[in-house]
Amino acid sequence: PVNEAAITFLSRSANEGFARTAAACFAAQLDPTLDEVNDVKTAVSEAVTNAIVHAYPDTLGKVSMKLRIFADNVLEIVIRDWGVGIEDVDRAREPLFTTGDEQRSGMGFTIMESFMDNLRVRSVPGKGTTVTMRR
Ligand code: ATP
Ligand code: MG
Repeated sequence: PVNEAAITFLSRSANEGFARTAAACFAAQLDPTLDEVNDVKTAVSEAVTNAIVHAYPDTLGKVSMKLRIFADNVLEIVIRDWGVGIEDVDRAREPLFTTGDEQRSGMGFTIMESFMDNLRVRSVPGKGTTVTMRR
């Protein structure tokens, strides 16, 4: 990468906004349009909210976000947690699939996929989840 940065934070809902804004600030060096920044913020918000809500259902845990810029101006964002993990990633990525309560619509991964160019989800039950997005 030509540039990279990383932050780690506790899975408190207050940190969703922190991560979203940090990603937008880092992406600013690519001179994105307002639409492009908003897409990145939305995708980060969905991934971080998942780590906060699903990865650590009854505890607080560590969440990390790595940001990278490559020579072709591609932005890569890696959001990782060490929480419960996902049993069936393909199923979890389907639109409307949720294990959450009625507050959740099961659209997080679908939103990340549509707002970014590439989404990779790796998860090991009991070990955690890594979401890699590129744009
Ligand atoms: P919404 O994002 O619309 O509020 P949702 O979070 O349930 O609803 P997705 O973000 O698409 O929908 O996630 C689908 C499912 O994948 C979740 O319900 C949850 O079971 C699982 N999941 C997603 N991220 C994680 C994670 N970091 N750790 C553990 N499980 C996760
Ligand atoms: Mg979600």
